Amino acid sequence: MPTVLVLATFADAVPSRATLELLTLARRVGDPVVVVLEEVSEAAAAVLAAHGVTRVLSVQDPAFDAYLVAPKSEALTQVVDAVGPALVLLTSSVEGKEVAGRLAVRLGASLVTDAVDLDADGTATKSVFAGGWTTRARGGRDVGVVTVKPNSVTPEPVEGWSPVAVEPVAVTLSDAARGARITARDPRAGSGRPGLTEATVVVSGGRGTGGDFAEVEALADALGGAVGASRAAVDAGWYPHAYQVGQTGTTVSPQLYVAAGISGAIQHRAGMQTSKAVVAINSDGEAPIFALADLGVVGDLHEVLDAVVAGLKADQA
Ligand SMILES: Cc1cc2nc3c(=O)[nH]c(=O)nc-3n(C[C@H](O)[C@H](O)[C@H](O)COP(=O)(O)OP(=O)(O)OC[C@H]3O[C@@H](n4cnc5c(N)ncnc54)[C@H](O)[C@@H]3O)c2cc1C
Repeated sequence: MPTVLVLATFADAVPSRATLELLTLARRVGDPVVVVLEEVSEAAAAVLAAHGVTRVLSVQDPAFDAYLVAPKSEALTQVVDAVGPALVLLTSSVEGKEVAGRLAVRLGASLVTDAVDLDADGTATKSVFAGGWTTRARGGRDVGVVTVKPNSVTPEPVEGWSPVAVEPVAVTLSDAARGARITARDPRAGSGRPGLTEATVVVSGGRGTGGDFAEVEALADALGGAVGASRAAVDAGWYPHAYQVGQTGTTVSPQLYVAAGISGAIQHRAGMQTSKAVVAINSDGEAPIFALADLGVVGDLHEVLDAVVAGLKADQA
């Protein structure tokens, strides 16, 4: 079986859902070996082992926090040289893609970004040109690097797993990797909701909200999801730019995407078309968004969302 190296990302010292998705895909191709660029607790190693990991490699270096991504990609290159995987999988986050790009250049490897599926032979599926085309690609090099969008698969644990010991790995970082130092961090105030790219549910509002996102936020909260917005809503100043979904905003790929008062312009679709299920609420039955919706509701979004949230609350009571 070929080795598949997965760069794990942790949230609060626990493997992220996106990492468990990568492991589920990695097992289709070969034996998953995980590399974590931080300390790994026994509990975290157990979660990784329960998802089929055969080795857990932990690399720790203060440079990972003090500098931009170059130290991470340099460390990963050294781990790849030591482990000899056929494939390296990373999450399609902004950082994941930058690490992947640098890694592929260093290794002379093939690179596919933003994949949504992976076959047993390493062929990656991705949706391109605003979701108008589905491509399948497999690199012709010894090592392939693939980044996968969060929420592409459901994480599946394995049966009958055994604990895996954490192996510390030392790396030597060059001076060149310390080129761009982080001088300050200014975290954005949290909304208490999950991040737009990782959320399994995204509820987005458009110009049809008329600027009132109360019902959009209420449904997102009832479903434990994130709030998104169309560019028209963002340009009107109704919602911050960081929440824009689309070609010039964030690309999301949740299990459920709710488009409320959004017409479905191609630039918006480019950012949400790989969502697993799309529900559209629009007062215009001819709105283009209905062409890609799995469920369409023609009506006033405020009334429809109010009724849905009330129904969910009644179910939970
Ligand atoms: C280079 C470029 C990049 C772009 N990038 C992006 C991007 O990243 N993301 C993005 O979203 N757009 C982007 N756009 C803009 C895009 O073309 C559209 O203009 C935008 O998506 C429209 O937003 P909207 O659907 O909210 O508004 P509209 O197109 O005005 O649609 C509003 C919809 O709300 C419905 N509606 C009105 N009232 C109600 C109600 N009470 N209840 C229910 N429905 C109602 C209407 O029937 C209509 O369908 C880009 C454009 C360009 C040129």
